[in-house]
Amino acid sequence: MALNLVMLGPPGAGKGTQAKRLAEARGIPHISTGDMLRAAVAQGTELGRRAQAVMASGALVGDDIIIGLVRERLAKPDAAAGFVLDGFPRTVPQAEALDAVLAGKDPLVVVEVAAEDEELVRRLTSRRVCSACGANADVPAPGEPVPERCARCGGTLTQRADDREEVIRERLRVYARDTKPLVEYYGGRPTFRRVNGAQAPDAVAREIEAALASAAPQGGGGAA
Ligand code: AMP
Repeated sequence: MALNLVMLGPPGAGKGTQAKRLAEARGIPHISTGDMLRAAVAQGTELGRRAQAVMASGALVGDDIIIGLVRERLAKPDAAAGFVLDGFPRTVPQAEALDAVLAGKDPLVVVEVAAEDEELVRRLTSRRVCSACGANADVPAPGEPVPERCARCGGTLTQRADDREEVIRERLRVYARDTKPLVEYYGGRPTFRRVNGAQAPDAVAREIEAALASAAPQGGGGAA
């Protein structure tokens, strides 16, 4: 049975870190629409040119564009054994489109990674990404300095354009308005779970594993 997983949650809850980790462990693709859009911006494609200003303002890219992107990605052979979606769906129309794509396939498991706004703002304002290897630096504990060099490769750490405080506040507003309704949309399903994102990454990972064990007992993907 394939593990078809959606990681839901506000920016900064740690869903990207967890999604990446889980996908690696299970040998299934990690599909981040934010990463796909940032790659398009970096490559200067038509999609990238259209998405860049929208992303920099903290708003959402249009449903049609994103749905097309994800539909194409899920049609690739490596997604047949399962996938971890990160940052999609973000609106009810996107969730409806995903249900339509998955009709007749293994059930969608949805894990919401929850955390309070003030903790999200603290994490996002101190989030740094390595310009050389792309790794996220560990978020410093409260009061600790923000790192400048990548612990993995020594590369320079930079801040995402949308991780400035005023943009973060807008992203959180957009989350509450457009994405939070998905908790309601999925909440009644037997495969919906919520975990506490306001913990150290290892503790969150353990909660997610426990959630998956109860929500998708046979879901294991390639590495099972
Ligand atoms: P993320 O890396 O998931 O925080 O996404 C960064 C930005 O990309 C978001 O603030 C949006 O502008 C855009 N984006 C990513 N995923 C989606 C989506 N599913 N729907 C609309 N916009 C998206």
